[in-house]
This record gives sequence, structure tokens and C-alpha cells, in this order.
Amino acid sequence: MKKGNIGVTTENIFPVIKKFLYSDHEIFLRELVSNAIDATQKLKTLSSCGEYKGELGELNVKVSIDKDNGTLTVSDRGIGMTAEDIDKYINQIAFSGAEEFLEKYKDNANAIIGHFGLGFYSAFMVAKKVEIHSLSYKDDAKAVKWECDGSPEYSMQEIEKTSRGTDIILYIDDENKDFLEQSRIDTLLKKYCRFLPIPVISGKEQEWKDGKYVDTDKDKIVNETSPAWMKKPSELKDEDYLNFYHELYPGQEDPLFWIHLNVDYPFTLTGILYFPKIKNNFDINKNRIQLYCNQVFVTDSVEGVVPEFLMLLQGVIDSPDIPLNVSRSYLQSDAAVKKISTYITKKVSSRLEEIYKADRNEYEKKWDDIKIFIEYGMLSDEKFREAGKKFALLKDTDNKYYTLDEYKQLIESVQTDKDGNLIHLYTTDPTAQFTYINAATQKGYNVLLMDGQLDNHFIGLLEQQVEKSQFVRVDSDVIDNLIRKENKKEVLLTSAQRNMLTGIFNSQIPSIENANFVVSFEAMNENDSPITITQNEYMRRMKEMAAFQPGMSFYGEMPDSYNLIINTEHPLIAKIRTDADANIAEKLSPITSEIESNNTKITAIRDANKDNKLSDEDNTNIASLENAVKSLREEETKIMSEYAANHQTVKQLIDLALLGNGLLKGEALNSFISRSVSLL
Ligand code: ADP
Repeated sequence: MKKGNIGVTTENIFPVIKKFLYSDHEIFLRELVSNAIDATQKLKTLSSCGEYKGELGELNVKVSIDKDNGTLTVSDRGIGMTAEDIDKYINQIAFSGAEEFLEKYKDNANAIIGHFGLGFYSAFMVAKKVEIHSLSYKDDAKAVKWECDGSPEYSMQEIEKTSRGTDIILYIDDENKDFLEQSRIDTLLKKYCRFLPIPVISGKEQEWKDGKYVDTDKDKIVNETSPAWMKKPSELKDEDYLNFYHELYPGQEDPLFWIHLNVDYPFTLTGILYFPKIKNNFDINKNRIQLYCNQVFVTDSVEGVVPEFLMLLQGVIDSPDIPLNVSRSYLQSDAAVKKISTYITKKVSSRLEEIYKADRNEYEKKWDDIKIFIEYGMLSDEKFREAGKKFALLKDTDNKYYTLDEYKQLIESVQTDKDGNLIHLYTTDPTAQFTYINAATQKGYNVLLMDGQLDNHFIGLLEQQVEKSQFVRVDSDVIDNLIRKENKKEVLLTSAQRNMLTGIFNSQIPSIENANFVVSFEAMNENDSPITITQNEYMRRMKEMAAFQPGMSFYGEMPDSYNLIINTEHPLIAKIRTDADANIAEKLSPITSEIESNNTKITAIRDANKDNKLSDEDNTNIASLENAVKSLREEETKIMSEYAANHQTVKQLIDLALLGNGLLKGEALNSFISRSVSLL
């Protein structure tokens, strides 16, 4: 028997392995099964090139539990190891700078295992003693047993073993007894070994007998040895892709479409990415892209490898070229990984373009579902943005779809304003904004439907990308102001009339929580609405953005600000004005003149003292004049509001406009209804 010390430079690596890798204990199984698979694959290769001439026999890997002895064994029929092999591959492990590295990557078992080629030693995360029983494929090889109890000391001796291959026997320690449960092992094999290329056997198939499940004699194979992504696209039908999808994510709806990735230069990458039908956020977090390395599951957090906007996709990526043994931040700066990410982006955009070109109709049908991916991609990835311009669609309120270019052509002649800006009109809610949409379409304008989760941001992007283009929501101003043309009519009101009408309407706006109204005038057509309520595009966007960005809560807390726009050309408005002229203009006129004269006096005092400080006397004078103005204004307001209060039409017009915007509620709605009834 040979005894020796494992070649580690730090005193004892095993406590370190146990301590630091605690959270990832389970991956020992992945490592041991992978080694077994590798050994089997190597034998197959040797056999096919004639270096191994013996019988291959049935090649599989077995994971078996012996509860009585407290052992878990991984057995293979691969190339096996001679004593020299064990010496070379197992006993000599160079842990230079180990401690420093371990400290740095203590949360990342993949990094540690990968860095040191520590796969085999991860067994010590769960075992108090490990044995290797192995018989090499080589002629006249002697079977050998290696044994180590977690100290740097090992022993090695010849044993009787007649079958080729290796058994790794783990004496599971007390804290890890759960690895002696078949159900636990089944779960782990399903997670890590589901698509390994050699059959992996663990436990027995079960059958239903006398009211319960019992083991049969049949070995249970846990994996699918040739998963869809490893096949050539030409070998696969749509059905195969769909089946594979459902195998990966049971209970999901069919995906919209998929992309088969297949490169071998300058890196190796295979995989299938699916565009899922996204129903809710739960699905997004649960069913993620899975990363494999030669069919061994590694992780389902693919940040860095897959461009961020494609994280919403599902499926499998398999590449031996992705360095798994490093931290995420390193991964993102790794050149090979960058290339992979760029490749995936390119492949996705060319596939989208292909589908778009092949069958526009089909593509349009899927648009509403894929829109979120494409908008997200164009917002977050510059390369994809360029590509996306070819197949991104805009949808209008008639459910017609246009590419960006097509849409530009459609609206160019009609929706260019006097300054040469191309004005895109849009709605976020066709039902609520119906009247505005109607007003716009009556004018021959087109209105886009922008009701998606990302549309807000996408609009901003399009404004940057398409020169001289602006997006305005249909209800953000009266139609003539949305797209300003040369021949706009002027408002013909004296300042006294403006003042009077403003006062009249202002006084009758019901108070609505969180809403402010500013009265203004426009000379529209006489058959346009007498009153329109609009919401400023800029303020509204700011508030919407504020909902997503914590630093901008200032905007979010402000009340919604609306414009109440009075169409001075409308006969009803004209009548209100002439009525008011007849009834209160005379009463208001002396007050108005007095206000004006007081204001003139105030200005005069200020002007006379432009360069010096105001004297106490001046200050007193100004204060008393300002007081006078204030009470005159109050008097004015009183006259106007008393008059308006008896003017049913004013109230009715305001309420109708509010109603059209869904702003009339509660008490205000109630009094509108009773007023309407009594008017009838
Ligand atoms: P890695 O697999 O990353 O090389 P490991 O520590 O897992 O590191 O294994 C070290 C080496 O031991 C392997 O490269 C292989 O040569 C050998 N080895 C491990 N397990 C087996 C096995 N089941 N059969 C044959 N050789 C094995």
C-alpha cells in the first residue's frame, strides 16, 4: 500500500472547500457525473479511432445509494484510471495562491472548482471519506483503490475489480444525509444531468401497484441523451421544437417562434432560443434561459452571456467557450463572451427580419406579443436598434401595421406642421380618448396606438431617431394646436372679454381632487367642440416617467394639470359672451378700470424709484394699492361667479367636457345628472 500527501500548498484544502462552498454543496454530483461522462466519451473516442480494441459493452453512468453503509456511488464504464493516472490527475493538484483566490470567490463554487480543476474534490463538500475504485481500459492494467478521509493524506492499493471503469464512493457525512435520499438525487440529476449525452441511471422505474408506487426491476434512465439543440436544424420539425420547449417549461403556452443557434467558429455555441408568450412577471422569473456546457447544466442566470434585452427569451445555450469559472463582472468584459452576446443579437435580428419578410401577415399577427422584446431591444442595444428599424412596426387605431418608413410616408403630406416637424399623433387608451381620436381622424390625421408597457420610452427613442419628428398624445391639445398649420384663426376678444369669460368659467369648474385647470381660448371651427380639456404632453410624460424613477418623485406628487380650452368660434360660447356683455360688462367695467388705474399707480411708484430703495411711505402706498386691487378682484370674481352660477349652459358645457375625459365623478357627476334632467 502506498501512502502520501495530496499536493496542496495550503495546509489543508478540505475545510476550506467545506466552509466556502456551503451554499452550493449539491454541485458535487454534477462534477462527479460529468467526470464519469467524460471518461465514457473518451473511451468511445479511443474505440472509434482504433486505439481501444476491446468490447465497449453497454455504456452508462450509474448513481446508486446504499443507505445501510451511508454511501453514494457514481460508477462508469469509461476509460478508468491506473495508479499512475490517479497520482497524476488526483494527487497532484496545484493550489498556488489558493487562499487568496478562495477568499475572493467564496460565493462562487463554479469559479473555485473551475479554477483548480477541483471537480473531483468537491465530493468532500458532502463526504467524510471518498474512495476511488478504478480499472483502466489499458491492457494489463491493475485495478486500484484510492482512499482519503478529508485530510491531506491518502492511501492507494491494488484491489480486485474485473469491470472496466471507475466507481467513486462517497461516505456521506452527518450534515448531508439528505443526499442519501433517492428523491433528492432524482431532483439533482434532473437539474444538472437532464441532457447529458450518455444514459445516466439512478434508482428504478416505478409502477402503480396495490394503491401505491413500487419499484420495478427496470433501471430508471434520468436523461435525454440527444436533446433537440444538439441536432441539426434540418433534422427537426416544428413539432420537435415545440416538444422540446414543453419539456423544458411544462405548462407554458406555445412559444411565438424560435431560433436555432449553431456556430463553431470563432467559438462553439449551440442552442435554441424561444420567444415566449409573456403572460406575467412570474413566468419571466421562473422560466429562464438555461446555460449548458457540453450538455451539463451550469446555471440559469445568463446575465452577461445573453444581451440584457434577450433575457426575456427562453431556451438553452450550450457552449464550452463560456468561462464559467469567473465572476459575473469578469464575464461581462470577457472578449469571447462579448462575441457570443453580439452573435446572439445578430442572429435574433436576422431571424426576425427573415420572419417579417417571409410572411408579413403572420408577423403582424405576432407583433403585439413580440413588440415588447423588440422595443426593449431597440431601447437598450445600439446594434439591435439599427436592425430593428427594418422590422419594428407601428399600429394605428384601425389595427393597421406600418414599418417606420411606411408610416412616415403615410403621414408626411398631412401631418407636417408649419415648421416642418412631422407630428405623430398617438393614443394610450382608445376608449377614454375616443373624442380626440375622432377629432383627429375627421381632419384626415392618423392616430397610433401606443398602449404597450414600453411605448412611453419607445416614443422618446423614435423622436431621437427620426429627424424632426414629434409624438403628441391626441388629448394633449386641441387638434389645430397639435399640428399647427399656417392659416390658424386668431382669437378675437378684448382683454376685458377674456377676463370676464375666464372668470365665468373658472368659477364653475367643480373641484376635483389632484387636478388643476387653466382656462385658455382658441378660435377653432364653429362645429368643433365648445370646450376641450387637454393635458400638456411634457408634464404628462414627466409624471409618467416619475412613476419609474425614484429621484423624480417631485413630478409624481404634483397634481395633474389640465387646460380647459374654450372655442371662441362656437355659437354657444359666442352666446355666453354676448349674454355676459349685456348683463355684467357694465358692472365690471368701473371695477376693471379701477384695478388698472391702481396697477398703473403701483408701476409708477416703482419706476420712479428704480435706482433707489423704496421709502417707507412708498412701501405703505404700494401695500394699500395692492390691497385695494385684491379686494377689487374679489368683487369682480363675486360678480362673475354669481352671474355664472345662474348660467346653466356654462356649467353644462364644463361638465360635458369633464365627462368626456372621465373626470366627472362623485358629487360633481351627481349634480350634473340632476341639472341635465331639470334642463330636459
Ligand atoms: P477536471 O475534470 O476539471 O479535469 P477533476 O478534479 O474533476 O478535474 O478531475 C481530474 C482528472 O481526474 C480528470 O481530468 C480525469 O483525468 C480524472 N478523472 C476524474 N474522474 C474520472 C473518472 N470517473 N474516470 C476517469 N478519469 C477520471
